[in-house]
Amino acid sequence: MTYDQPLFRPPSEADSLIFQVTLGCSNDTCRFCLMYKGKEFRVRSLDAIRRDVREMALEEPYARRVFLADGDALVARTSTLLSILELLRESFPRLERVSAYASPRNLIVKSTAELSQIRKAGLDLIYYGVESGDPATLDLVKKGATPDEMVKGCKKAHEAGMAISATVLLGLAGREGSARHVSGTVDVLNRIGPEYASALTLMMPFMDEYRRMMGGDWTPLNAVETLKEIRGLVAGIELAGCVFRTNHASNYLPLKGVLSKDRARLLKTLDEAIAHPTTYPLRPEWSRGL
Ligand code: SF4
Repeated sequence: MTYDQPLFRPPSEADSLIFQVTLGCSNDTCRFCLMYKGKEFRVRSLDAIRRDVREMALEEPYARRVFLADGDALVARTSTLLSILELLRESFPRLERVSAYASPRNLIVKSTAELSQIRKAGLDLIYYGVESGDPATLDLVKKGATPDEMVKGCKKAHEAGMAISATVLLGLAGREGSARHVSGTVDVLNRIGPEYASALTLMMPFMDEYRRMMGGDWTPLNAVETLKEIRGLVAGIELAGCVFRTNHASNYLPLKGVLSKDRARLLKTLDEAIAHPTTYPLRPEWSRGL
């Protein structure tokens, strides 16, 4: 099987088999995201996906986890997804989990009944980019959905029985918008109630261009300001059982904990790092990546 590069997957899918259901992202408007720029969006043919699955079923017959790429595999027709999920169940008898990225638009367009069918066919978990809960920031970065639309879409996914892993983007609103970015994001996450929440840190190879797009007064956060945003999230998210992670390579400080029981430990770690940033073992700039 050969992949149409570039290929991305969440950190927690490092050991999963990956099949490309779509190429690129059907939205591809987000100003902070360069993942699929230059890759023309399309849904791959069912025949091509079948060939990939059959090939990998011979090589990895005991695979337990599958991730469906690229940027928003959930955009594919429900009938296509049901066929793929059925094929995966037949081909990998020990399959335990199938996951995919989903864009806000995917959850707006698909009905709860369709999402239920997809869930019952085997899609357990969606990775969902919230990025920010601040309406002005979402509008400025052209995410393509308001906070209310995201909450509504995620409620549909939950009603269908899917688990949600929500990601937020530290530094997205810059220094000036940091407080409302954090408070809006806390609010949206508390309303969505994801099973997993992770934070990534904004990294733009073309930071000057991003600053121009975001308006003249947009200022990137430094490491301490970024840690303060994480602190605001950890302190504000009120979700029992939600696993919070900052294990993405873009972050200065990898953290993991269940917020209802590990909040105090996470806050203590963050407070130490914020108070002593030059001596605390933060990930150096040169080793941060996407
Ligand atoms: S929806 Fe996701 S993959 Fe697509 S452009 Fe936005 S952030 Fe990138």
